[in-house]
This record gives sequence, structure tokens and C-alpha cells, in this order.
Amino acid sequence: MASNRKVMVLPGDGIGNEVMQANMKIIDWLAKHRSLGFDLSEGLVGGAAYDVHGTPLTDETLADSIASDAVLFGAVGTPKYDGVPFEVRPEAGLLRLRKEMDLFANLRPAMVFPTLVDASTLKPEVVSGLDIMILRELCGGSYFAEPRGIDDLGDGTKRGYDTNAYTTPEIERIGRVGMELARKRDGRLTSVEKANVMHSGVLWRQVMTALHAAEGEGVALSHMYADNCAMQLVRNPKQFDVIVTDNLFGDLLSDCAAMLTGSLGMLPSASLGTPDPETGLPKAMYEPVHGSAPDIAGKGLANPLAQFLSFAMMLRYSFDQADEAGLVEKAVNMALESKRTGDIMAPGCEQTDTDGMTKAVLDAMDRLAR
Ligand code: NAD
Repeated sequence: MASNRKVMVLPGDGIGNEVMQANMKIIDWLAKHRSLGFDLSEGLVGGAAYDVHGTPLTDETLADSIASDAVLFGAVGTPKYDGVPFEVRPEAGLLRLRKEMDLFANLRPAMVFPTLVDASTLKPEVVSGLDIMILRELCGGSYFAEPRGIDDLGDGTKRGYDTNAYTTPEIERIGRVGMELARKRDGRLTSVEKANVMHSGVLWRQVMTALHAAEGEGVALSHMYADNCAMQLVRNPKQFDVIVTDNLFGDLLSDCAAMLTGSLGMLPSASLGTPDPETGLPKAMYEPVHGSAPDIAGKGLANPLAQFLSFAMMLRYSFDQADEAGLVEKAVNMALESKRTGDIMAPGCEQTDTDGMTKAVLDAMDRLAR
């Protein structure tokens, strides 16, 4: 169905393809039952692009992604390319997309669905009702800042190094997103760094404090060291509302939060850029937190729910379709009452595969739409 909602679909590698195919069925359902159409284009990324073009992301796919209103992404990575140079590894395609689209704000909600309380390795009372948002800076810090590299020291040894650098504007723009998110939620923002041992952390804390003093009305700001935050996330995760942190710490802390919810297969994410001055909409990419899961790829066993929940975030943040986003999220919870993929299997539920889980969500959407 034609529309003015231009979406670039990049399934990627491994289970990325399987969960994206499943996502298309949700998109078809919305077109049929809600007359909600998307102008979809599809491209190759990761190992799939390298196989055909010798690069994990062509300039053309990048340009199409930048020209779209939103990118719906699966996952990249395949062990086949473990030995190829860093710049052409499948993951480099994803990093380039994030960088070139200037997607500096990575939103990773960690919510425990009522039906999934028992899937967490933590005690039910610790995770029941959990609803936190981890906001990770995505374009700077250790994964991008220069200098970085591996130098030959000429004595038979080498030196590998990365730089964790942040500038005032980089910290301010992610801080603003953090405050905006906190205002729409419970009003609490925890800024996380290591100001006790890192200069970038000292600046991070100074800038966050000044930004909050100038623009932080309605938001309670607190600061925490990253190592303590990792501990607090498993001790008492419900103490948090929104956590804002840098690229490296955000990578680690969001995976830690992932396990609070029971499975990587349940975790969606959104990566947003600066809002367009005309439309007010940010450049955006939506993707599950999990990777290409080579151990189960091609077997039809992947949990597609993180992909569906990423799509729901796209509906909410890029297309202002909160009702449809809510419908998908409710259907996911309803489907979990009876059906589970292997990664979140629980006694009393029927184990199913990607197709079965997708059908359960579509059936729930049918029931909710009645
Ligand atoms: P992974 O997320 O692919 O898998 C970790 C474990 O979780 C595996 O046992 C896997 O089977 C399981 N798992 C993940 N998603 C699942 C799902 N939807 N349903 C059921 N089980 C699921 O992480 P990994 O094994 O560390 O990495 C594999 C490849 O993916 C690597 O090449 C890595 O670089 C890449 N990767 C890509 C992304 C991305 O595209 N955003 C993210 C992480 C890792």
C-alpha cells in the first residue's frame, strides 16, 4: 500500500532475515485491518552485502537509508567473516549507518512483560513491573573517537588503543534527549560515567549538571559511576527511570538490563538523530538488540518479538501511531500467555518456533481489534 511513510528495510544476516520476514506479516496485517501503509524499499547490509558487493554497506544503500523516514533493521554478523579486516566486517556496515545518519541517541527500553516475570534469572519481586529506559550515546566515545588503531612498536610487539573522547555539544545533545524522555516518564534521570577515574567522565558530569541547571525543569538528575550502575541494575533495577550514558558503558549496561527481561530476543531499540526542522521528525533506525544468532540461524527458531517491539517503537517515534504501537505491544504480551520460543520457554506454555510465535501475535491482534 503506497503512503508517505518511507521505510528502508535492511534484514541483514542470520536470524535478521527470519525475524524481518515475520515482521512483514505484522506490516501486512496493519495494511489490511488498519489501512496503515508504508512505502517499503529493501537493501542488503552486513555479510549479505559483502557477499554481493565486497562491502557491508554500499553508498547507494546508505543514501536510500538517509532518504527514508525510518530504517527497519534486523541484525548483522556471520562467523564466515571473522577473519576479514575490521572495516569490511558485517558489523562495520551497521556502525557506518549509525554514524552517517548521525543517530546519536540509542533508546533501549527494558520492560518485563507480566507474562514473562518468570523468564528472568532474577527473583520475580526484583523484576516484576520493571520499566526502565537506557539511553546510550551512539556516535562518539571509544567506538569512534580518534586516535584509535594498532601500532607496530618495531620490537616484535604492538600497541592497540582507542580513545574515549566527548565534547560539550556531544554530551549536551544526548543529555537533552535524556531529559525529554524523563519528562515523558517518571521524571528521573541518572547520568552514568566514571568521573572518578576518567577525564571524559569528569567533563560528562560537569556538562550534565550545567545542562540540568539551565534546562532541566521537571527532571530530577542524579549521577552514578558505571561500575556501581552495573551492580545496582541487578540489585534493584526498579530504582531507575531513565539512565543516560556514553557509548561504551551504554553497550555493556544495556546488555545487562537485557537479562533482567529474560532474553535478548525480547529487547527492542530505537536510534534517533536530530529532529528535522521542517517535520520535527528525527532520522531514525529501529532494530532488535540481539545479533544474528549464528547458533540458531536458518532453523526457524528465533524469537521474533524484539523485532516486532522495535517496529512498534518505529510506529510510535517516527510515525506518531501510538494506538497501533500499543496494539502490537499488547498482542505480544497476550501471545506470551500461551506460546513461547525456546529462549523464553516456561512450564505450562507451548514451545513454538518463529512462525508459531508470529501467528500467535497475529491471532492476538485479531482478537484485540474485534
Ligand atoms: P547474539 O545476540 O547473536 O546471540 C547471543 C545468544 O542469544 C545466542 O545464543 C543466540 O542464539 C541467542 N539469541 C539472540 N537473539 C535471539 C532471538 N531473537 N531468539 C532466540 N535466541 C536469540 O550475539 P552473539 O552471538 O554475541 O553475536 C553473533 C553475531 O551477531 C556476531 O557476528 C556479532 O557481531 C553480531 N551482533 C550483531 C548485532 C546487531 O546487528 N545489532 C548485535 C549484537 C551482535
